[in-house]
Amino acid sequence: MSDLTGNAKTNSLKGGSAGVDHSKKSTDPAVQQMLEKAAREGIQTVWDRYQAMRPLCKFGESGLCCRHCLQGPCRINPSGREPRVGICGATADVIVARGLDRAIAAGAAGHSGHAKHLAHTLKKAAEGKAPDYLVKDKEKLRSVAGRLGIATDGRPENEIALDMARAALADFHEKDTPVVWITSVLPPGRFEIFSRHGLVPAGIDHEIAEIMHRTSMGCDADASNLLLGGLRCALGDLAGCYMATDLSDILFGTPSPVVTECNLGVLKAGAVNVAVHGHNPVLSEIIVLVAKEMEAEARAAGAEGINVVGICCTGNEVLMRHGISPCTHSVSQEMAIITGALDAMVVDYQCIQPAVATVAECMGTTVITTMDMAKITGATHVKFSEETAVESARQILRLAIESFTRRRGKPVEIPAVKKKVFAGFSVEAILNALGRIDAGDPLKPLIDHLTAGNIRGICLFAGCNNVKVPQDYNFITTARRLLEQDVLVLASGCSAGALMRHGFMDPASVEELCGGGLKTVLTAIGEANGLGGPLPPVLHVGSCVDNSRAAALAAALAVRLGVDLDRLPVVASAAEAMHEKAVSIGAWAVALGLPTHVGVMLPVAGGPLVQRILAEEVKGLTGGYFILEPDPESAAEKLLEAINERRAGLGLPY
Ligand code: SF4
Ligand code: SF4
Repeated sequence: MSDLTGNAKTNSLKGGSAGVDHSKKSTDPAVQQMLEKAAREGIQTVWDRYQAMRPLCKFGESGLCCRHCLQGPCRINPSGREPRVGICGATADVIVARGLDRAIAAGAAGHSGHAKHLAHTLKKAAEGKAPDYLVKDKEKLRSVAGRLGIATDGRPENEIALDMARAALADFHEKDTPVVWITSVLPPGRFEIFSRHGLVPAGIDHEIAEIMHRTSMGCDADASNLLLGGLRCALGDLAGCYMATDLSDILFGTPSPVVTECNLGVLKAGAVNVAVHGHNPVLSEIIVLVAKEMEAEARAAGAEGINVVGICCTGNEVLMRHGISPCTHSVSQEMAIITGALDAMVVDYQCIQPAVATVAECMGTTVITTMDMAKITGATHVKFSEETAVESARQILRLAIESFTRRRGKPVEIPAVKKKVFAGFSVEAILNALGRIDAGDPLKPLIDHLTAGNIRGICLFAGCNNVKVPQDYNFITTARRLLEQDVLVLASGCSAGALMRHGFMDPASVEELCGGGLKTVLTAIGEANGLGGPLPPVLHVGSCVDNSRAAALAAALAVRLGVDLDRLPVVASAAEAMHEKAVSIGAWAVALGLPTHVGVMLPVAGGPLVQRILAEEVKGLTGGYFILEPDPESAAEKLLEAINERRAGLGLPY
């Protein structure tokens, strides 16, 4: 907050009360302990700011306000009385559909901006301009090149990589051929559906720009047509996610299973604690690498070493590839700072609450922004460039060591809460594990178990925490019910964070959480892979962009079964969605034909036609649909119903 002169008035809203029950804010005991500390010390958190914001504006919540021109803002009366249309005559459904489209476009811009950054990095690496990066997974480079139609025979890796980077960058603008990261990844039947309904994106940035055009004053004023445009833009988002996953694997390695621990208990009082937070592994990979090299410098400053931990999706990226411990996710990011033990929070972009800079000021943490397009007032900015990546990482870690020397000897409070995490399930890793049962046909064991009913269906959990929901409650409630009904659960992003913090990624929880059929499957695969026990109940597939891994697995199953995606017993759930990126992921999941649950109301309640299209009519087009259900028990029942309906359609027992 600032006064009219621009002077910062930080932390003017004090923290909540001490000695109260914090379980309505978070189900995580580590977070509850930090909320108590914050209250004692008068530190404001996201939950305090949420209370101060309530009641939330009903017009905005129901999607009924429009600021798309300077005649407004207009807001439609949600009770059906006047005003029923905006000043220009836009109806409630048009205003709601335009708002949803813009959220999809913003989400697509986030994921594809991340992908574009990776494409530029790959290009610079291939041209020798970014010497700290190289092609780490040559096999994946060649297999993705083959999928994209890039020649590989007899060509050196850097030539293939350069062609791939160029193909990736070409996918952003409108060109004669559609987005190749869509055409090359879909089962043929799905592509035909998209072609028939005009849903094939012409260019990722092109679709985002078109949404901004068609939703501006005086353009598209037909809710159904607006939503079709939104679906096409969401498929641009899928392309961005898929591209980001492919290029990250090529540059940094395709994940394979790793075991570590998570939650705030992974911080170490005597070490230089550095949290990497945000999304893009372009930065965090180098931090992890350079932290090892700078151990001696940290020890010379009196530390036990450098302890790199993760937050949000950049945390998921380094967890999957290096076993780096995630310390927290999403809504509870301030809690890592409130321990007093975090020396530096190094951020790239997306999902970073600006408030971290204010909390850091109270606790002595150095917040370091690194991207010129994502600075935070009050943070220290160290410009990160791929050309001088290692040097920038050294500069960043030196700031962390300096921060440690200022903290040394001061009291910290690190909750003694951590859980075991078994992560790293890329599609390649899943197929590799299944290949130990059937080397010639790795998908066969999965299909056999699906057919027999040992696996009733598959659910992808995705998306964020949202301050409106007691943190993790929706995820753990819905996942518990699905697992006991033998649904194979995959998780990405902060949903994966929620489930790992509650032990759902520890193989020891299989006995308690999984139904008999699923237990048999996880144990058979685990034992075939020499684990001496089962795989964990929930398979961690990665960061938010890695939802593309789940799409790839579903596509492989569909092709193998000879059916389209909308016939598979596969569903998705964003039980505590928060970000616009979660809206775009949900929209492409629906476009792919999946019943898709959202556990926090989308801003569509004010548009009855929009709601009907999302929940029912879109089914006639893509086979997928939204399940808008805030109650996690009912959500689980609806997801199970959808799975059973699909099983019946395939003639499978349910
Ligand atoms: S575009 Fe129409 S509804 Fe929106 S602010 Fe302008 S006049 Fe109002
Ligand atoms: S799941 Fe949501 S909060 Fe978490 S990193 Fe992704 S978009 Fe951000």
